[in-house]
Order: sequence, then structure tokens, then C-alpha cells
Amino acid sequence: MNEKYEHYDTARINAISITEVARRLDNVKRVGSVYKTLCPWHNDNHPSLTLYERTNENHCHCFSCGKGGSVIDYVMQHENWSFQEACQWLSHEYGILTTDYLGPKPRLTPKSKPKPTMPEYTYIPMEMLDELVSTNSSFCQCLMQMYRWEAVEWIVEEYKLGVYSINGQDGFTVFPNIDNSGRVCNLKVQYYDTDYLSERFAHSIKGSCYWLGKMWSKEGKLPKNAEFKTNCLFGEHLLSKYPSAPVVLVESPKNAILGAITFPYAVWVATGNKNQLKRDVLKPLQGRNVIVIPDRDAIGQWRESITKMTDLANFTISDFCEEHAIHDAPKCDIADILIEERRCQQQA
Ligand SMILES: [Zn+2]
Repeated sequence: MNEKYEHYDTARINAISITEVARRLDNVKRVGSVYKTLCPWHNDNHPSLTLYERTNENHCHCFSCGKGGSVIDYVMQHENWSFQEACQWLSHEYGILTTDYLGPKPRLTPKSKPKPTMPEYTYIPMEMLDELVSTNSSFCQCLMQMYRWEAVEWIVEEYKLGVYSINGQDGFTVFPNIDNSGRVCNLKVQYYDTDYLSERFAHSIKGSCYWLGKMWSKEGKLPKNAEFKTNCLFGEHLLSKYPSAPVVLVESPKNAILGAITFPYAVWVATGNKNQLKRDVLKPLQGRNVIVIPDRDAIGQWRESITKMTDLANFTISDFCEEHAIHDAPKCDIADILIEERRCQQQA
């Protein structure tokens, strides 16, 4: 039996930055003041191996399974290599010479690094939304003054619009973002002026916008520090319900609701704000026929963005808000136009 093996300079190998080595082999995440990575000693889903790299310290420890060790221990466990193999790879990669060289050895390659894991989102349980679904919100009161109640009930059911009280005030409207897998990503809450004779009728009251995800996480109804998925279209869940219907893409949920109640043959979806017209947000529209109706002040910006995404869907951009602008208002949107039209019909 040949007992010959190489003598590696283990002191120098174990002084190679453990964070650097972990970064080569896996994904490393900063948590507060320390770095963490997935623990190779147990079946780890959340990074629980803490990397200690301070003066005279260069090792790792897992508070979940209690294991850990030196740079060499980490590489052996991560790659399922022997002590010799781990030392061989580290020496080669970091240019550390062995004390007695025994000739060329096969070059070792670590298994490929996993893709960075997506941040884990918290979804709001559907039951929590179901409890809020109602026609009693300020926005539905506006709709009731313009449309038949059956139409309002239908729209509330389709989009799962809800009602909520904040600081003792009832009637806040809940607009849910439900993704195409039926998960509730977040709930936007806004209060609307219900005075039919007011200039601001069916407009949201300034400063009345809240996100229930964050609010519930602070109140302890959802996990603390929960992260919510932000790239979900309003109305996205309806895309799979009506797979062959044409789609109309607008900016605000209010636009989508007014549009859907007026032209119910199409699926109306909303980005939520001007700057959400991004590829990852629009991905669920893949392969669909999509009419895009930007607010008047965003026509140029949206046209430019859509031009870069023509491979995604069959987009048609409409100048509707330019052509129908009321009193030449620069910030006119399709909801303003449809509401104005409806009120003129009602007065006639
Ligand atoms: Zn562990």
C-alpha cells in the first residue's frame, strides 16, 4: 500500500477568507453585521451558516445544527470531498504551494453554484381578503351613483374589492393585487370622495393611501419584516380566468375598474403606477393581445417602454386619453373620461 500523500500548508489554507470561499461555492447573504450562507451540514433552506471573519477568526458555525469548522471543513462538506481533495483545490485556486510536490494531479472542479434564490415573499391569506370583500367602500358608493348595482356587485366579485376602516374611519376601498397563481401579494387601500356634485367626485383623498401588508405586519397579523411581492398587476388573476379575452392595460386600479364596467368584454389590468411598466411586471401578458391606454401625461414614456417589449405580447398603444382629454387637463386618465361621459349621460 502506498501511504504517500502530499503535505499541504493547512495553516495558510485555513487563512483564506471563508466568506470569499463560500461566495465561490454558494450564495452569501449579508444579515446585519455578519455574512451567512446555506449550511452544508444539514438540509438548509434559509442561510443559517454564519461566517466568522475577524482578526484571528476565520471559520463558520451553524446555529441550527451546531456544526461548522474551518475553511477546509467547509469545502469538504460542501463538495463532499476528502481532506486531500479540499486542500488540493484550495491550494490550487489560491496559489498556495504544497511542501512536497508529487507531480500534476487532476484538476478538481466544485459542483456548480446554485442560482441565487429569489427573496421569499409573504402572501396574504385569501381568507383575510375574503372577509373584506364588500360593496360598502367609498369607491363602490361612487360607482353605485353611476352604474346599476348588479354591475357594481359583479365588478366587486371579479376584482375582490373590499372595504376597511382606518383610524375609526369606515369606507376605505381595498384593491387587492392577486397574481396569476391566485396568491394575494398585497392590498392597497384608498379613500374616495363620494360627493357626486364635487369636482373631486370619485377621486382619492390625498394622503389616504395605505398598504395593508405592511400595516398588518406591524400589527402582528402577518410575520414581522415580511416582504411583499411588488411586481403583480392589479387584475392579474383574471388573465387565467379569461385566457382568450383581449387585455387592456392601464395605470391605476380605478382606471381598470371603470374600464371593465364599461367594456366588460376585455380583461382590464393595471400596473399601479407609471414606473411599473416593466418586463417582470408585464410577463403574465405573454402572448396576449394587449391594448395599452396610458394616462395622458405618460403616453410618451409608456410608448418608449412598450417599444422595447414587443416580443412579449401583441401591444397596441392607444392615444385615447390625448384625444378625449377633458378641458385639456394634462393629467387626464381614462377613468376621468368615462366618469365625465357617464355624468353627462345621466344629466341628459
Ligand atoms: Zn447546519
